[in-house]
Amino acid sequence: MTNAPGNVAILGATGSIGRNTLEVIAASGGRLRAVALTVCSQLAEGIELAAKYGAKYLAAADAELAGRHDWSKLPSSVRRLIGPDALEEVASLPEVDVVVSAIVGQAGLRGTWAALEAGKRVALANKETLVIAGPLVMELAARRKAILLPIDSEHSAVFQALQSGKRSEVKRVILTASGGPFRRHTQEQLARVSVAEALAHPTWNMGRKISVDSATMMNKALEIIEARWLFDLAPEQIEVVIHPQSVVHSMVEFLDGSTIAQLGPPDMKLPIQYALTWPDRVPGVAPRMDWSQMHRLEFEPADPDRFPALALGHEVARRGGTAGAVLNAANEIAVARFLAGELPFHQIVAACRAVLEHHQYDSHPSLDDLLRQDTWARQETAQWICC
Ligand code: NAD
Ligand code: MG
Repeated sequence: MTNAPGNVAILGATGSIGRNTLEVIAASGGRLRAVALTVCSQLAEGIELAAKYGAKYLAAADAELAGRHDWSKLPSSVRRLIGPDALEEVASLPEVDVVVSAIVGQAGLRGTWAALEAGKRVALANKETLVIAGPLVMELAARRKAILLPIDSEHSAVFQALQSGKRSEVKRVILTASGGPFRRHTQEQLARVSVAEALAHPTWNMGRKISVDSATMMNKALEIIEARWLFDLAPEQIEVVIHPQSVVHSMVEFLDGSTIAQLGPPDMKLPIQYALTWPDRVPGVAPRMDWSQMHRLEFEPADPDRFPALALGHEVARRGGTAGAVLNAANEIAVARFLAGELPFHQIVAACRAVLEHHQYDSHPSLDDLLRQDTWARQETAQWICC
């Protein structure tokens, strides 16, 4: 007997999580099917993936790009959906059982929201959705009886470890962080970090935005906020520890002092598969630990001076309200400016703090309020000049 869903829609199919999801589906022996894919600018790649994986729907969010594209290579069996509403249409297709939310940034919110509204199981990689609108998203999922499962490796680990006890028995959650490529950098070295250096993550192979987020540790800040809403934890219950090998994906400490950890090689296919097949565990393509190899698992405290993003993460998790939407939008623009060579690396977090500090805080915003704050924070960060 299994409750695992079969028909999968992937929002953001051409990305790092999207492609890993397609590999998991291809290796599932027919248990999972890639029914619908969405793409943004990579239309040719999307067509190739739809043909290769036998999708029935291909949605292109950018209507202008799609209008200019040559679609002659799209198999006639694939239905084409075009425009920003196409994401919501795909996310709520009756034949879709599970929606993999793998678009990067705030752009992932609408499709995730539509999937929850439609009562789907949502396998969530797009942590930004919870950072922006955690309480509203969790309330929507509960109201629509939608199941929201994490893909983020730390949150998948916490989700798995939580099954060892009752919620009321949880003392604290320890999120592990590799520390990124600049764990030992001095402030002077951080000021000179190049784009290529920031994109070269030591243990994970990921999209550009999350690679920069990992280097600044903003990724861990976003994950503190994600954990706070997803697992209904008090911000003080969430700790971060540096673990350079990225083998222990996170831990839960229970009241009796027992700590339960989840381990595996740094590869997203395992957490993706678990979100798709839960509550079942099935064989898959994820690599395994080889314990005959020498494994040194190291842990060290996260240095708050080197990584000021962490304090920001706890602060925003405590404040709630509009703080998450503003932090996320400021970070998206600051990262884009760094990638464009307009902002030095060490000013990304400084820009986020400055914009966060002078926003008009509201403790109980609606979704529209949050989106207005998002627009405001983007404009502010685009104009922000280095201090
Ligand atoms: P990526 O850059 O590789 O892929 C992003 C996808 O989003 C692409 O398919 C792109 O076409 C699509 N997209 C971008 N902007 C869009 C828009 N405006 N409208 C519609 N589609 C758009 O990113 P990724 O590394 O796969 O990360 C995706 C999400 O998963 C992020 O939220 C990230 O934080 C999260 N995540 C990623 C990893 C990882 O290992 N890559 C791990 C944990 C969580
Ligand atoms: Mg993560």
